[in-house]
Parts: sequence; structure tokens; C-alpha cells
Amino acid sequence: TLPENNWFGARLVANAAEAGSRVALVFEDRSWTYAELDLAIRRTLARLADRGVRRGDRVVMRGEARPEALVTMFAVTRMGAALVPVHPQMTGHELAVILEETAPRAIVADRGFLEGLPLGTSLRLTWDELRSGELGSDGGGSGDEQSFEAGGPVEAGSPVADPPAGSDVAIIAFTSGTSGRPKGAVLTHDNLYWSQVNGMARLPVGEDDVALVATPLAHVAVLGGLPQYTWARRGTVVLAPRFDPDLFIDLVREHGVTAAFAVPAMLSLLARHARFDSPDLNSLRWVLAGGAPALSSTTTRLLGRGVRVVNSYGLTESSAGVTYAALGEVADRTTSAGPPVPHVELLVVDEKGASAPIDGVGEIWLRGPSVASSYWTAGGLRPATDPDGWFHTGDRGRYDAQGRLEVVGRAKELIISGGENVDPAEVENALADLPGVLEVAVGGSPDPVWGEIVTAFVVASAPEPALDDIRAHLEGRLARHKWPRRLRVVPALPRGATGKLQRRALTEQAGVHPA
Ligand code: AMP
Ligand code: MG
Repeated sequence: TLPENNWFGARLVANAAEAGSRVALVFEDRSWTYAELDLAIRRTLARLADRGVRRGDRVVMRGEARPEALVTMFAVTRMGAALVPVHPQMTGHELAVILEETAPRAIVADRGFLEGLPLGTSLRLTWDELRSGELGSDGGGSGDEQSFEAGGPVEAGSPVADPPAGSDVAIIAFTSGTSGRPKGAVLTHDNLYWSQVNGMARLPVGEDDVALVATPLAHVAVLGGLPQYTWARRGTVVLAPRFDPDLFIDLVREHGVTAAFAVPAMLSLLARHARFDSPDLNSLRWVLAGGAPALSSTTTRLLGRGVRVVNSYGLTESSAGVTYAALGEVADRTTSAGPPVPHVELLVVDEKGASAPIDGVGEIWLRGPSVASSYWTAGGLRPATDPDGWFHTGDRGRYDAQGRLEVVGRAKELIISGGENVDPAEVENALADLPGVLEVAVGGSPDPVWGEIVTAFVVASAPEPALDDIRAHLEGRLARHKWPRRLRVVPALPRGATGKLQRRALTEQAGVHPA
């Protein structure tokens, strides 16, 4: 049952009342019990309310991996406002699109980041302000000693009379598509609640789990994924300030980490690390892998070391996982994503719009209470599903005879590099006015660690641009994970009869594949 209301963090608060002294969160050299986390959420909520944030507003937040961001996520959503988390690498230029679409009441980030943003009438809230309650005082750095639950007195229950309704917007999660402009998937409290129900039905999370989160907080894997299930079960979440395999292994050893979420590229870096076979990883029982196609050899390495792997398939629009492989199931099929969760319908649909037979490939369609039904735009909500409520994912898959899903590719021209989505059209638009570029196409070329690598194909005039020119041009325009890491100068771009660019033909050309 939901103890307080429909708010997707309600279980966390119930835990504060029933098991308040258990450790909920660990970050660097500090930890917070459930009671302390609840207090921090209430205080942050009061400060947001003081500054004029109200139910129904949007609050944009830079999704850095820091405790204040988690607390802000719960505070904003608890008051019935919508959180708009953005990737910490996002540039001011990219953020402008999101500000335009969402017209936020407030934006929360470091002071340095807020300077120079086209914020109009939106409030600027720095992390230090939310922490200290001393409005307007901002040291600008993250190194000060003040903790975010210090500050003015806030009593339980006060500033928000009405808890959010299940149908209220909790999170607007911007995700890169293929249109040149990111789309804001609307995740309601109900969507996130059902995502928790689904995840907890399939994942072996228990109160003894210590779950490591090493992905940016703007990802749906964090907003709707493993940390939420862990808190719902009264476990402990260890937040890594960033991902690097050394730090990951250190954190596992120091905190007795038992479970982790990781995109396949992270697991691949881990499995190649010199300390992979050392006792430092001994406490790690299982990892949840998702966000990009599983890498078979990595899974095999992990299984060989006694770490069980749960492959999962999902998207931003499905509020995290919609399939989970059972523990150990991957031993025979290392890339299977497993069967669908209980509260989602998942169809594999062929070109004629019919359900594909077993082992037949088609587009993956989803329907269910965790699946977003709309996108947020400045002009109002735009449907995300067809009239029958099906969300067409643009991914291609097939069911095996055991009812397990295998994701076999993408119909959409999205690039996924290290689990981060990159919209080729967005990168092409940003490169179109680079001197020396006559025509440009961007595609993903296969890579054993990153899955795909962003590659620019350029029809050039003299002097030809170099990769460094491309990077200099994109600095401040696009987040670094979208920058091409390869450049190919080509005589012409392949186009179809109607002149439409054929990106796939480009990346299949000889010479593109890494050795
Ligand atoms: P995002 O919305 O950023 O979470 O990206 C979702 C996309 O990641 C999906 O549409 C898929 O293309 C890809 N993806 C997620 N999980 C898997 C998986 N297990 N196997 C293959 N692709 C995946
Ligand atoms: Mg992704």
C-alpha cells in the first residue's frame, strides 16, 4: 500500500517513520538515515515553497550526482510540482530549448552554471541556497561543510496541504530522439509508482542490499529505477560522484556494495580492470544492466566471477525497465533481456501491424500504467502513444519460445554511445555551419566498449576540417557525449530516391568499423 499519498516517494517517508535509523544514503564521507533524508526533503520543500514554487510549476534541475539533487527530486515532486532533470553535461545552448518548452518557475544548479543562462523570469536557486536556507548566500562551491538538512526550523507536515494526485506530473524527462530536438516525456506519479511495482516484482532487492548508483541522476534508471526500489525495500543507496572503474571498485569495497545499476559500457570497463578478479569486488552479488544492448563477453566475465547479471530493456518513456532477465537466466543467452514485467503489455509487431510469431523480428510496442502517455511541449501535451494507447518504441526485437525478449536493433536512427542517447540530426544541425563543411551526416559506428561511437561523415571543401575543428565548434553548444569521436571525409553522402539521407548505408561502409 501507499502509506501517505500517491507521491512516488511515499514509501521512503514511511520508512523514516518505521525504520528511521536505517541508513538510506551514502555519499563520499557522509551518510544519512531515513529519518535524516526525510527531514532534508521537508526542509528543502519548505525553502522551495518560500521562494514561490507551487504545485503545478516546473523546476529544472541539473542532475549532478549529489545528495542535494536526490533530495530536490523528492521535495519538488512531493509538493506537486514537476521536476525537469537535465544532464549535467548539458550546455546553456541545449538548455535553452528545455527552458523554452517548460517555462520553469525555478532552476536549480551551481551559481557558475546559472550565470549567463537565458532564464527570463525563472528563479535561480543554487545548491547552497537550498542547503543553508540563507537565501541569496552562495559560496558557489560544493566543498563547504554545511549539510543540506541544517538551517531554519521546519516542522513535519507543514507547507503542503494537498499531496499530489496519481495523475499529476512528477517528472518531465527529456530524451534525445531523432528529430533534432529532445522530447520531454511526461512521467506521472502513477507511472513512477507502477515502475516501482514492476521492478520490485522482478528484481531481488531486499533490505540488506547496498545499491551503487554511478549514473547521472537525470537518467530514468535513477529516477524510476534501482535506487527507488532499494529505498522502497529499506536498503541503502551509495551514490558515486561520477563513474570510473577504480572508484566503482573502491566504493564496492568500502561500503560492502551488493548490487549496482550500470550501462553495458560501464560493465565492460569494469570487467577489463586489473582489480576485477581481486577480493575488492567480493560483496557484489548482482548488477542490473540496461540502457543499451548487452555486451555478451562482459556478461560472461561477470558471471564467471560470481556476479549475477540482470539484463533489462526499457526507455525513458517507460519509466525504466519493462523487461528483466531472471538471475542466472543469462547463462545460456547472455543478451536476452528477459520476459516483460507483470504490468506492461509488450508486443513485437511486424510490418503489417500484426503480432510477429515466436523468433520473428518486429518493432517493440508497449502499453501499461508505467508508460508515458504524452510529451510536454510549450504548446501543450502531445500524445506519445497511438489512439489505442500503444507506445511505438522504434526498437526492434523478437520473443523466444520461453517468452523472453531479445532486442535486436533499432528502427530509429538514434545513436547510443556508452548508454547515452545521441540524436544524429542534432549533431548534424550543429555542424552544418562549420567552415569547410559542405554536407554532413552523423552515424554510430560499432565499438567493443561504448557500443557505438559518434562518427561524422563530411563532404568537405578546402581546407578540410579536422576532428579538432569539430570539437572546438561544438564546445559550449553540445554536451561532450554527443561530440563525434571519428571523422570521415567522403566524396558524397548516400541518399535515397527522395533525397533522404541514408545514415545506415554510411556506417556500414568499409573502413568505419574499428579494428
Ligand atoms: P533512454 O530513453 O535514454 O533510456 O534510451 C532508451 C533506448 O535505449 C531504447 O529505446 C533502446 O534503443 C536502448 N536500450 C535500452 N535497453 C536496451 C537493451 N537491453 N538492449 C538494447 N537496447 C536497449
Ligand atoms: Mg539511454
